[in-house]
Amino acid sequence: MLVSLLFPHARRPLQCLLRDLHHCRTGLCGQKNPHRGLQTTWVTYSSDITPVFTRALAFGDKIAIIDRNGEHTYRDIVSQSLRLAQEICRVLKCPSRDLKEERISFLCPNDASYVVAQWASWMSGGIAVPLYKKHPVQELEYVIQDSQSALVIAAEEFVEKIAPTAGKLGVPLLPLLKPCRDGSTSHPAVEGGPLTACSSWKDRGAMIIYTSGTTGRPKGVLSTHENVQAVTTGLVEKWEWKKEDVILHVLPLHHLHGVVNKLLCPLWVGATCVMFPEFDVEMVWKRLLSPEATRISVFMAVPTIYAKLIEYYDENFSQPQVQAFVRAFCQENIRLMVSGSAALPVPVLQKWKNITGHTLLERYGMTEIGMALSNPLHGVRVPGSVGSPLPGVEVRIASETLKDGHRSYAIHAQGDENSTQVTPGLEEQEGELLVRGPSVFREYWNRPRETADAFTPDGWFKTGDTAAYKDGVYWIKGRSSVDIIKNGGFKISALEVERHLLAHPHITDVAVIGPPDMVWGQRVSAVVQLRKGQMLSVKELKEWARDIMAPYTIPTELIVVEEIPRNQMGKVNKKELLQRFYPS
Ligand code: AMP
Repeated sequence: MLVSLLFPHARRPLQCLLRDLHHCRTGLCGQKNPHRGLQTTWVTYSSDITPVFTRALAFGDKIAIIDRNGEHTYRDIVSQSLRLAQEICRVLKCPSRDLKEERISFLCPNDASYVVAQWASWMSGGIAVPLYKKHPVQELEYVIQDSQSALVIAAEEFVEKIAPTAGKLGVPLLPLLKPCRDGSTSHPAVEGGPLTACSSWKDRGAMIIYTSGTTGRPKGVLSTHENVQAVTTGLVEKWEWKKEDVILHVLPLHHLHGVVNKLLCPLWVGATCVMFPEFDVEMVWKRLLSPEATRISVFMAVPTIYAKLIEYYDENFSQPQVQAFVRAFCQENIRLMVSGSAALPVPVLQKWKNITGHTLLERYGMTEIGMALSNPLHGVRVPGSVGSPLPGVEVRIASETLKDGHRSYAIHAQGDENSTQVTPGLEEQEGELLVRGPSVFREYWNRPRETADAFTPDGWFKTGDTAAYKDGVYWIKGRSSVDIIKNGGFKISALEVERHLLAHPHITDVAVIGPPDMVWGQRVSAVVQLRKGQMLSVKELKEWARDIMAPYTIPTELIVVEEIPRNQMGKVNKKELLQRFYPS
């Protein structure tokens, strides 16, 4: 009754959907705990830095992942990762079983296979390079090539998509086989022995995540195991992750938010992660409100997802008793709801509070620095602010000054987890946010000059975000560059979009801008100059771009002009363009 009241337009009955989630109580291996006899020994670690898989056997038969294939225990995932690690070392002819930071690209759906590929990369001493299933082949090729991957792993469903690219690049392709019903795979059986041959993790590269910047093609951000652990343990401590937690995962897994905050944090403490293949507004509401399935206690998303959930709520949950149920259920079962990766509009925060009774906890982070600032779990969450530094993170708000030909920084405020000091006369003034600490990445892969340019001479990472310290908390005031657009939590380089669009046969000049949007954060809008006599619609552009651009980077608005205004240096003033076409 409640189900039909809640989801009158459900494409399929809720019971059916729940059955899908729970029909199989076995893991990827098709059997409950098929590896109970698995013989593994522990290596002694020389430091406190250890990848998450080294903790996993301690959680044994606890459910780590629930996905569309069923439930997977920690033991299942460790044993499958170990098999895959052995296979990786066999294919790469590495008898020492330590790949010493060779890169391993992998293309997996959002399910347990992703974790297996990630852990196997780490067990074999490699660096994990997650690929994104929605990226066009060109983009995947760029990442595999730029990261100089030695191997590509692909889940069965993506083998066809990636095989020609791997072949073209001469990189071996290892299909990640779906295990047979009896629990066996065609990968060789696990023999006794240590989980990994690596013993020192601190400075070892863990993963490369690609991010867009204001110059050039996307850069690979290389984070070490120390960096990853610093972010994970900081969040585990501050947000009080515990093994009883159950998180609903709906974010992409080639982005830090999805990889660390939503996956590695729960796995670090032995909690359970319910993985959806992707975000689906109706499915998320159903799962959050499901009385039968394991109750969700933690949810995290980008602001756009909350805006979409609100839209759905407004359209479908109009009856007062339904609204009362939603609020009571969320209050009773969910202990934490987090927003990040883009600014959370205050009206979204307020509306969400009315609906669920939860004040979203807003935090700030970036691929290069992990998570830096967070509102508190307990205590006041100031709407519009991003709180204060997480454990181990030091931040500065500073502005660059030029004195006698020398560049230096005037510091407005500097703080850490415990306190912030402000410079008299500069308090509350906006400046660039600088960050230092163990969560800050090691390097842009193969780009020493860009890496050096990203830091101040005294070693602070320059985020490119404008911030202020006011009323005892930090506020993000926007990006220093108009060439970075945040759409649905994705970071998009306007210049990269322009580079693609200039290849269109009808476009002669283009400037890409990001007008503000309540749901998406910013939209991607292209101001274009066309060849004489040519026309171009958004629909035509979308069709043309489908195979070469990531879907979220394709402009949804086209403004055709006679000529794009440029100054004498040939530069476009994008702030003026924004004012002209999207006056506030
Ligand atoms: P990414 O590296 O893709 O995670 O993007 C990081 C960028 O997202 C930051 O440099 C900010 O510009 C933006 N960002 C992340 N969290 C927030 C937030 N809570 N408020 C405003 N901007 C944010």
